[in-house]
Amino acid sequence: MTTYLKDTPNADGYFGDYGGAMLPPPLVPHFKEIREAYDKISKSAEFIRDLRYIRKHFQGRPTPVSHLKNLSDLAGGAQIYAKREDLNHTGAHKLNHCMAEALLAKHMGKTKLMAETGAGQHGVALATAAAYFGMECEIHMGEIDIAKEAPNVTRMKLLGATVVPVGFGGRSLKEAVDSAFQAYVPQADHALFAIGSVVGPHPFPMMVRNFQHIVGIEAREQFLDMTGELPDIVAACVGGGSNAMGLFAGFIEDDVALYGVEPMGTSSKLGEHAATISFGEDGDIHGFRTMVLKDENGDPAPVHTVASGLDYPGVGPEHAHLYRTGKANYTSANDKEALKAFFDLSRHEGIIPALESAHAVAFATREAPKNPGKSILINLSGRGDKDIDYVTETFGFGEDL
Ligand SMILES: *Cc1c(COP(=O)(O)O)cnc(C)c1O
Repeated sequence: MTTYLKDTPNADGYFGDYGGAMLPPPLVPHFKEIREAYDKISKSAEFIRDLRYIRKHFQGRPTPVSHLKNLSDLAGGAQIYAKREDLNHTGAHKLNHCMAEALLAKHMGKTKLMAETGAGQHGVALATAAAYFGMECEIHMGEIDIAKEAPNVTRMKLLGATVVPVGFGGRSLKEAVDSAFQAYVPQADHALFAIGSVVGPHPFPMMVRNFQHIVGIEAREQFLDMTGELPDIVAACVGGGSNAMGLFAGFIEDDVALYGVEPMGTSSKLGEHAATISFGEDGDIHGFRTMVLKDENGDPAPVHTVASGLDYPGVGPEHAHLYRTGKANYTSANDKEALKAFFDLSRHEGIIPALESAHAVAFATREAPKNPGKSILINLSGRGDKDIDYVTETFGFGEDL
């Protein structure tokens, strides 16, 4: 690990001004237990050996880096490369931290995994990990999301998870978080709450980043191997920010420009995007300090993006820190650009990307003409099978984009 990764966050979980753990008193001892277990267990030879085995023989790692030659020719300018997390088991990067969180839970003697899920992607990844380890799994999901994301609900049930419908308030992700935390408190002696991105109270932003670091470690080595040099630009979409932090971590002390790509949705009007760093301000959300999109009352604002995995009015605290210190840059792509990228990558490279990942593809094709002779490495965080029905029913085959 580099000095930056070792020193950040500090012992209290702060990345500069951001992060920390603002917890209701009943959860304080449980998060202390997780922190201590992570510090001790994740450094043990046994844990490292088990995790390596799982990554290789169950997840199918390492995933490759692909040169997107046709897309590069189409865009003109820079050469575009993609780290293929769509080829990770279950089709996205989320399994990287879910398997590691579940392995930690096993070493802690826990028998159950719990979480909230929005679109269902985190729920499916965690249910997969629970099935692998023979653990119980309880996923809280808003009723609106359950109706919208039926295939993921079926997947979770097939994998043996219990899906708890959340019927109060907006019946979506925010309520699912509240419901899951409430259900966790009386079960915390035998359950681990497994957060799905580099968000939440310390130690989760650090822990999830370190579990996703494998993406950046592999990508750096593979890119060097392929081209003999480092990429000039490294980019990834940012919802909570875990796939971006995983890739960034591999290049954090290199002379490489890092770009997080936020979803601009349908417009820059509050409520019509989820570009937290672009438009947010400092604030607290879900037990940590970060940048937040706020409404007129100072509460988390409603958000929109075509990619449901990116619709969060907060962002991982480390991204707020990297932005404030200028170590990383943050920009955005809107729904239309992401959709165009979705069709382009499918048609010209034979890779159907997740709509989330399509935001990074859109960034690459937009930046390529401005950077002739340079290279852009993006994280293709997931595959788009989950999105094909919605996309084609709503936008046909992209004729009008
Ligand atoms: C969940 C998800 C994301 C967004 O999560 P991050 O924590 O911001 O990486 C991005 N891509 C895919 C495919 C996802 O499933």
